[in-house]
Amino acid sequence: MSTLQKNLAIICQNRKLPFVFEEAKAMGVEITFFYNDNESPPPEIPGVVRSIALPLFEDEDKALDIVMLENKARRIDGVLTLFEPALDFAAKIANRLGLPFLPEFVVEQCRNKNMTRRVLHDNGLNTPSFIEIKEGEYPDIDQIKFPLVVKPTNGFSSQGVTRANNPDELRNAIDKVWEINRTQLKNFIYDKGGVLLESFIDGPEFAIETFSHRGEVTVLSIGDKGNGKGPYFEEGVYIAPADIDEKLRDEIVDEVRRAVKALGINEGPAHVELRINQKQMPFVIEVAPRVGGSGISHYIVKASTDINFLQLVICHALGMEFSQKMGALVKPISTAGNYIIPVQGDGIFVEIDGLANAREKSEVEYVFEFMEPGHKVLPYPHFSGYPGFILTRHTDHEACESFYNDLQKNLKIKYS
Ligand code: ADP
Ligand code: CA
Ligand code: CA
Ligand code: CA
Ligand code: CA
Repeated sequence: MSTLQKNLAIICQNRKLPFVFEEAKAMGVEITFFYNDNESPPPEIPGVVRSIALPLFEDEDKALDIVMLENKARRIDGVLTLFEPALDFAAKIANRLGLPFLPEFVVEQCRNKNMTRRVLHDNGLNTPSFIEIKEGEYPDIDQIKFPLVVKPTNGFSSQGVTRANNPDELRNAIDKVWEINRTQLKNFIYDKGGVLLESFIDGPEFAIETFSHRGEVTVLSIGDKGNGKGPYFEEGVYIAPADIDEKLRDEIVDEVRRAVKALGINEGPAHVELRINQKQMPFVIEVAPRVGGSGISHYIVKASTDINFLQLVICHALGMEFSQKMGALVKPISTAGNYIIPVQGDGIFVEIDGLANAREKSEVEYVFEFMEPGHKVLPYPHFSGYPGFILTRHTDHEACESFYNDLQKNLKIKYS
């Protein structure tokens, strides 16, 4: 029985990442879990009182009806999702029920990368040159400065995101992204295709977690995300706090807070990706109005700052008052990281060699495995899921990096 007498609707969630369920449960919140009906019904999950299937990406109207009917039976007090393609739906539900959530247009302008670029540009933020093209269209090569990044306008998980260094690569990348729009992404984007070209920002990447309240944006953490050069952008390591000087840190904080505000994220969490170019200028790559990484961002913030990110987010979703005053930037107290086990190729997945050893290390707090034996891993830029995450805590950045170098040497994916 819920001690808070609050019923939180969680829309879709990678069930292997338990943070959102665990934090809600710890608060005494009752969870109604709406899962995508192309997945199997979930086993027992901590805090989840009932699980309801939704035809979320096949029949949105029907899915809306199911949630509205469920609300009649048991009033829903808050709506939350950490799953990018479910944000639009969550916004619709919350707005119909009069519950706290961002307006639908704010969600749309974050999800649509062409709109994001336009808003950031119009608000005076650093923006790579960008152009959206129509199906069957190729840009005028004379007007283009390489290298470029080609991506689906409404994509996620780096699917299709490809660097192009010359006209040949550009044509191939454009064809490939249209194919990905029509196949893997089709359902999740409700057929909203679109291909975006933007100039490649050449320099280190950072992930920034923020929380907004009454229009004030707090930067909870800034983490290092490596310096990927492409042609594909598989997720790698995430270490917070980032190894940067105060000047760069303050510039990132300023750019990010302005970007989050410009996009209209006046309340709740955001996960921001940003790169620093050769002139040391920060460029926001994208802003997602949610807790990042299906809850990984919560771990990073909690382990590196002691702030319970999801608790804030759940309080906000339930319309509860909270008094935490955090200012522009939160001070880190420890180093935390996520080592994403790379797919290291393609084929039929068998197992991850060396994982049992890694589990034993004192720095390792969680190990999540996502692939079952027999899972088919396609070559990038197709996304077939990550083999696993290893969440760790360290005294400092250097210790974390050297730990990850060892993991890289010792963990091998076996394919048959
Ligand atoms: P998705 O929503 O699929 O994650 P992103 O736009 O975030 O798509 O792109 C995925 C990754 O590709 C980014 O994290 C970044 O590493 C790289 N990337 C995307 N756009 C650019 C760009 N203009 N310059 C440099 N790298 C980019
Ligand atoms: Ca986005
Ligand atoms: Ca995204
Ligand atoms: Ca991204
Ligand atoms: Ca990314």
